[in-house]
Amino acid sequence: MEKKSISIEYKEYNNIEDLPLMEQSLLKKAISATKGAYAPYSRFRVGAAVLLSNGETVIGANQENAAYPSGLCAERTALFSAHTLYPEATVRAIALTAVDQEGNMLPTITYPCGACRQVMAEYEMLAKSPMNIIIGSSSAIQTFEGVSSIMPFIFDNLI
Ligand SMILES: [Zn+2]
Repeated sequence: MEKKSISIEYKEYNNIEDLPLMEQSLLKKAISATKGAYAPYSRFRVGAAVLLSNGETVIGANQENAAYPSGLCAERTALFSAHTLYPEATVRAIALTAVDQEGNMLPTITYPCGACRQVMAEYEMLAKSPMNIIIGSSSAIQTFEGVSSIMPFIFDNLI
Protein backbone atom coordinates (compact mmCIF):
# COMPACT_ATOMS: atom_id res chain seq x y z
CA MET A 1 0.00 0.00 0.00
CA GLU A 2 1.16 3.45 -0.86
CA LYS A 3 -0.38 6.46 0.77
CA LYS A 4 -0.86 9.32 -1.69
CA SER A 5 -2.06 12.89 -1.39
CA ILE A 6 -3.01 15.79 -3.57
CA SER A 7 -3.04 19.50 -2.95
CA ILE A 8 -4.83 22.36 -4.62
CA GLU A 9 -4.09 26.03 -4.99
CA TYR A 10 -6.54 28.86 -5.33
CA LYS A 11 -6.60 32.61 -4.97
CA GLU A 12 -8.82 34.44 -2.54
CA TYR A 13 -9.81 38.09 -2.84
CA ASN A 14 -11.67 40.21 -0.32
CA ASN A 15 -13.75 42.18 -2.75
CA ILE A 16 -14.76 42.15 -6.38
CA GLU A 17 -12.73 45.25 -7.30
CA ASP A 18 -9.51 43.37 -6.47
CA LEU A 19 -10.12 40.75 -9.18
CA PRO A 20 -8.45 40.96 -12.59
CA LEU A 21 -10.80 42.78 -14.99
CA MET A 22 -11.95 39.72 -16.95
CA GLU A 23 -12.85 37.86 -13.76
CA GLN A 24 -14.50 40.94 -12.29
CA SER A 25 -16.62 41.41 -15.39
CA LEU A 26 -17.64 37.76 -15.51
CA LEU A 27 -18.61 37.70 -11.83
CA LYS A 28 -20.72 40.83 -12.29
CA LYS A 29 -22.52 39.06 -15.13
CA ALA A 30 -23.11 36.07 -12.83
CA ILE A 31 -24.59 38.39 -10.20
CA SER A 32 -26.83 39.90 -12.85
CA ALA A 33 -27.82 36.43 -14.06
CA THR A 34 -29.40 35.67 -10.69
CA LYS A 35 -32.33 37.86 -11.80
CA GLY A 36 -33.29 34.99 -14.08
CA ALA A 37 -33.42 32.44 -11.28
CA TYR A 38 -36.67 30.57 -10.81
CA ALA A 39 -36.38 29.53 -7.18
CA PRO A 40 -39.84 29.66 -5.58
CA TYR A 41 -39.11 26.61 -3.40
CA SER A 42 -35.59 27.14 -2.06
CA ARG A 43 -35.49 30.95 -2.50
CA PHE A 44 -31.84 30.27 -3.20
CA ARG A 45 -30.88 32.33 -6.23
CA VAL A 46 -27.74 31.31 -8.11
CA GLY A 47 -26.26 32.86 -11.24
CA ALA A 48 -23.51 31.70 -13.57
CA ALA A 49 -21.70 33.34 -16.46
CA VAL A 50 -19.62 31.40 -18.97
CA LEU A 51 -16.91 33.04 -21.07
CA LEU A 52 -16.27 31.28 -24.38
CA SER A 53 -13.27 31.13 -26.70
CA ASN A 54 -15.16 33.24 -29.26
CA GLY A 55 -15.52 36.07 -26.74
CA GLU A 56 -19.21 35.49 -26.10
CA THR A 57 -20.63 35.28 -22.59
CA VAL A 58 -23.60 33.05 -21.83
CA ILE A 59 -25.45 33.31 -18.55
CA GLY A 60 -27.60 30.88 -16.61
CA ALA A 61 -29.57 30.80 -13.38
CA ASN A 62 -31.00 27.99 -11.32
CA GLN A 63 -34.40 26.76 -12.46
CA GLU A 64 -36.55 24.87 -9.99
CA ASN A 65 -39.63 22.75 -10.50
CA ALA A 66 -42.34 21.36 -8.23
CA ALA A 67 -41.01 17.94 -9.28
CA TYR A 68 -37.66 18.67 -7.66
CA PRO A 69 -35.26 16.57 -9.79
CA SER A 70 -36.56 18.32 -12.89
CA GLY A 71 -34.85 21.57 -11.96
CA LEU A 72 -31.32 22.50 -12.94
CA CYS A 73 -28.42 24.39 -11.38
CA ALA A 74 -27.22 27.74 -12.74
CA GLU A 75 -23.87 26.33 -13.86
CA ARG A 76 -25.35 23.60 -16.04
CA THR A 77 -28.06 25.92 -17.34
CA ALA A 78 -25.30 28.26 -18.55
CA LEU A 79 -22.93 25.57 -19.85
CA PHE A 80 -25.58 23.64 -21.77
CA SER A 81 -26.94 26.83 -23.26
CA ALA A 82 -23.43 27.98 -24.20
CA HIS A 83 -22.69 24.76 -26.07
CA THR A 84 -26.10 24.82 -27.72
CA LEU A 85 -25.61 28.38 -28.94
CA TYR A 86 -21.93 28.09 -29.88
CA PRO A 87 -21.02 24.41 -30.42
CA GLU A 88 -17.69 25.31 -32.03
CA ALA A 89 -16.54 27.46 -29.10
CA THR A 90 -14.88 26.19 -25.95
CA VAL A 91 -15.24 27.31 -22.36
CA ARG A 92 -12.53 29.58 -21.01
CA ALA A 93 -14.04 30.58 -17.67
CA ILE A 94 -17.11 30.34 -15.49
CA ALA A 95 -18.17 32.63 -12.67
CA LEU A 96 -20.90 31.88 -10.18
CA THR A 97 -22.50 33.30 -7.12
CA ALA A 98 -25.64 33.15 -4.99
CA VAL A 99 -27.57 36.21 -3.86
CA ASP A 100 -30.14 37.17 -1.25
CA GLN A 101 -33.60 38.54 -2.01
CA GLU A 102 -32.15 42.03 -2.56
CA GLY A 103 -29.62 40.73 -5.09
CA ASN A 104 -26.58 41.04 -2.84
CA MET A 105 -24.06 38.21 -2.83
CA LEU A 106 -24.44 35.86 0.14
CA PRO A 107 -21.70 36.05 2.79
CA THR A 108 -20.74 32.40 2.36
CA ILE A 109 -19.30 30.88 -0.79
CA THR A 110 -21.62 28.68 -2.82
CA TYR A 111 -19.57 25.97 -4.49
CA PRO A 112 -20.81 24.01 -7.52
CA CYS A 113 -22.50 20.69 -6.76
CA GLY A 114 -20.80 17.48 -7.84
CA ALA A 115 -22.92 17.04 -10.95
CA CYS A 116 -22.01 20.52 -12.19
CA ARG A 117 -18.33 19.88 -11.48
CA GLN A 118 -18.50 16.74 -13.63
CA VAL A 119 -20.08 18.71 -16.48
CA MET A 120 -17.49 21.47 -16.11
CA ALA A 121 -14.72 18.85 -16.28
CA GLU A 122 -15.95 17.46 -19.58
CA TYR A 123 -16.25 20.89 -21.20
CA GLU A 124 -12.75 21.60 -19.95
CA MET A 125 -11.52 18.44 -21.68
CA LEU A 126 -13.12 19.64 -24.91
CA ALA A 127 -11.30 22.95 -24.52
CA LYS A 128 -7.97 21.21 -23.86
CA SER A 129 -7.03 23.99 -21.46
CA PRO A 130 -7.84 24.70 -17.81
CA MET A 131 -11.11 26.45 -17.09
CA ASN A 132 -10.86 29.54 -14.93
CA ILE A 133 -13.41 29.27 -12.12
CA ILE A 134 -14.52 32.32 -10.16
CA ILE A 135 -16.77 31.81 -7.15
CA GLY A 136 -18.04 34.91 -5.42
CA SER A 137 -19.51 35.80 -2.05
CA SER A 138 -19.69 39.11 -0.21
CA SER A 139 -16.90 38.07 2.17
CA ALA A 140 -14.50 36.32 -0.20
CA ILE A 141 -14.03 35.55 -3.86
CA GLN A 142 -12.08 32.45 -4.78
CA THR A 143 -10.57 31.68 -8.16
CA PHE A 144 -9.39 28.28 -9.34
CA GLU A 145 -7.34 27.35 -12.40
CA GLY A 146 -8.82 24.15 -13.74
CA VAL A 147 -11.69 21.92 -12.68
CA SER A 148 -9.28 19.45 -11.08
CA SER A 149 -8.80 22.12 -8.42
CA ILE A 150 -12.36 21.58 -7.26
CA MET A 151 -12.89 18.02 -8.46
CA PRO A 152 -9.71 15.98 -8.77
CA PHE A 153 -11.17 12.59 -9.63
CA ILE A 154 -13.77 12.80 -12.37
CA PHE A 155 -15.55 10.08 -14.28
CA ASP A 156 -13.82 9.99 -17.67
CA ASN A 157 -13.80 6.29 -18.61
CA LEU A 158 -16.01 6.87 -21.65
CA ILE A 159 -14.17 9.91 -22.97
ZN1 LIG B 1 -25.01 22.00 -9.64
